[in-house]
Amino acid sequence: MNSNDQPTLFDTAPEPWTLDDQGDWLAARVVFADPPFGPYDYAIPAEQETATGIGKRIYCPLGSGRRTMTGYCIDVIGPQHPLAHEVNVARLRPFDRVIDAEAIILPSLIPLAHWISEYYLCPLGSVIETIVPVGVRQQAGTRELTFLIVAPNWQAAARDQKLTDLQRSILQVLASGSAAMTPKELAETVGCTAGPISTLRRKGLIVAYNERVQQRTHEIPAELRQADLPLNDDQQRALDQVFVAIDQHRHETFLMNGITGSGKTEVYIRAIQKAVEHGRQAIVLVPEISLTPQTRQRFRARFNRVAVLHSHLTPAERSWHWNQIAQGRIDVVIGARSAVFAPVPRLGLIVIDEEHDGSFKQDKSPRYHARDVAAWRARHDQVPVILGSATPSLESFQRSRSGEYRLLELPKRVLDLPLPDVGTIDMRIDYAQGKRVSPLSQKLRQEIRQATSDGGQVILLLNRRGYSTRVQCPKCGEVVYCPDCSIPMTFHRDGMRLACHYCDHQQETPDRCPKCDFNAIKFSGLGTQRLEEYIRSVFPDLVCERMDTDTMRRPGSHEAALARFRNKEIHILLGTQMIAKGLDFPNVTLVGVVNADSALHFPDFRAAERTFALVTQVAGRSGRGPKGGRVLVQTFSPEHPAIVAATRHDYLAFAQRELPIRESAGFPPFGRLARIIVRGQNAELARAFCDQFSGRIETAREAQGIELNILGPAPAPVEKLKGNFRFHVLLIAKADVELQKVVAAATSGLETPEGIQWAVDIDPQDML
Ligand code: ADP
Ligand code: ZN
Repeated sequence: MNSNDQPTLFDTAPEPWTLDDQGDWLAARVVFADPPFGPYDYAIPAEQETATGIGKRIYCPLGSGRRTMTGYCIDVIGPQHPLAHEVNVARLRPFDRVIDAEAIILPSLIPLAHWISEYYLCPLGSVIETIVPVGVRQQAGTRELTFLIVAPNWQAAARDQKLTDLQRSILQVLASGSAAMTPKELAETVGCTAGPISTLRRKGLIVAYNERVQQRTHEIPAELRQADLPLNDDQQRALDQVFVAIDQHRHETFLMNGITGSGKTEVYIRAIQKAVEHGRQAIVLVPEISLTPQTRQRFRARFNRVAVLHSHLTPAERSWHWNQIAQGRIDVVIGARSAVFAPVPRLGLIVIDEEHDGSFKQDKSPRYHARDVAAWRARHDQVPVILGSATPSLESFQRSRSGEYRLLELPKRVLDLPLPDVGTIDMRIDYAQGKRVSPLSQKLRQEIRQATSDGGQVILLLNRRGYSTRVQCPKCGEVVYCPDCSIPMTFHRDGMRLACHYCDHQQETPDRCPKCDFNAIKFSGLGTQRLEEYIRSVFPDLVCERMDTDTMRRPGSHEAALARFRNKEIHILLGTQMIAKGLDFPNVTLVGVVNADSALHFPDFRAAERTFALVTQVAGRSGRGPKGGRVLVQTFSPEHPAIVAATRHDYLAFAQRELPIRESAGFPPFGRLARIIVRGQNAELARAFCDQFSGRIETAREAQGIELNILGPAPAPVEKLKGNFRFHVLLIAKADVELQKVVAAATSGLETPEGIQWAVDIDPQDML
């Protein structure tokens, strides 16, 4: 049985109770986001009866009554309620008062919260708190805001006046945006202070107007809206199948496997239009990094009422959007993972773009996967889901093979554009010939020169930030590690410091070996900072920009860099996986993968899948325009099947080779995983507790007669993190319910010693 068919009690829960049906008692069932989590039942005070409702917050006394806590009402129970027998009527105490006038969580999302709580083994109250954004809980208000737009004559004026580069890029960002921005949004987008924006206002190049936030319109004037593109046959065929499900109000999951540049987004847009015609709303999930102005623009240009939920929204803005959505004023909600909880009143369709992306899984409790939450919600509401990717997760692909999902294929690029030709560069050859291995092979350097002199642009992927990823003594071999983590420190050129990429610990760079005192410590392992420096020295005449979490710390700097790249102010864009996804720049004629092996040898069964996806995705950025394009992949493992398949754009070949390997180990998609992680400052104690935990799992397995494979306990691949020693146990079962049963039995009554923490991760993505 898989997650989608898991029976839940709450599927058939009755509509919220009406007060007239009640007998002589009435209880509110309440859960809390912090321990004790509940649920607890409270008597509803007579004067609060009309105010009480499912999804509202309530002040409740706890313990001896001296403490009051805010809880969430998840049910109102009277004598006729199916759960009435659970209520200890004689011992009910009244709560203090109801906080919210309106439900803060859509009552129809409570069953979803129940499912997440049961499936991911996490308290219901903390799930509800995850669903409702902070701003909404704070009831963040509305206010009058100042909005900025460029002056009508700004281009002419900008030409005549002396402006700094910064001022120019401010104007460009504002002009290229789809809507007016507040001064704060603009400053964040450009990554500047308020100063230069005020200067531009004084010069008359930017004009301001005030508007009440409630009245702020999402609508783009009809004349600026874009027309539909004529679909090609593959797009039309895919769309027709989705239309059937939408028209029949039927739940079905479509896996749209479309190569990069095959026009998946156009199909999403048409399907959403259909759902909107039916008076329903759509939710579109994309990886956070893909929430670029380009993505927003594509949807805003096609729909009247779009809300974009990105991580740089203030709590007040988020709350405002949330209310608009809940009031049915929005047709399309676009956002990262948590947008799957958007309170649309009549859900019509869920789209998940780049469905294979790891960011759809939350890495803290509740450790939900937005794809599975979407599946549950869509099934519950009987609406279709479209999962789209050029490199589908093997989980989704296998479901399409077994018939559970319907496969839609877009095997060609739009307008018959060819896929870029991909070549590999075997880095072992330089090495074998005793040449110093330079960051870019001669061949790649020549191609960069060629591409840029032909007026094209270049994207280079190197998935490691910093300058040198290893600091080592050539005499005694000592490598400098983070004192708190079992991770080598990375040397960062800016600030000349060592940084740990797991806990952000920073320290001075030693000039002598900390162990043997040798005075010539060595820096090796190529990072993006060093690559940038190298490119500047080899191509002094070309403009190069680095995009990684270090240069993109400020909100909006990502957008600003992409705007400059689009305007062809940058020849070479280099960066981490941040540049691999979703970007559609027709002038990119060369993509270089600097080190395709960087993730290949991770101790993670998905290492090959991730490498395949990353190389395929970044390769897909090339040749999206009439000039065509090329891709060069530098690698020490040119014969590795994941790399070979990526260079041939051959998803099927990759999947057909990888699936049997997964099957023989019982790994997903053929089995279900749970990972138990135990950590503590005392390694002995943590290890002992992990052993004990594992023993309880074994006992539970025997007692319930469940077939379950237990791997470990063992030290986690990252043995030490932020000063905690980490051990883990991996559980492999045929079905998810078996995992939940065993883990629930093993953890019931489990006493956690002082100084130890543990977590259970169902369907883990992170194996480190
Ligand atoms: P994908 O998401 O599959 O990588 P996109 O949806 O980004 O592909 O489409 C790539 C480009 O092709 C976009 O610029 C898009 O506007 C354009 N496009 C999509 N469908 C068509 C079509 N039927 N005819 C012409 N251009 C199209
Ligand atoms: Zn660290």
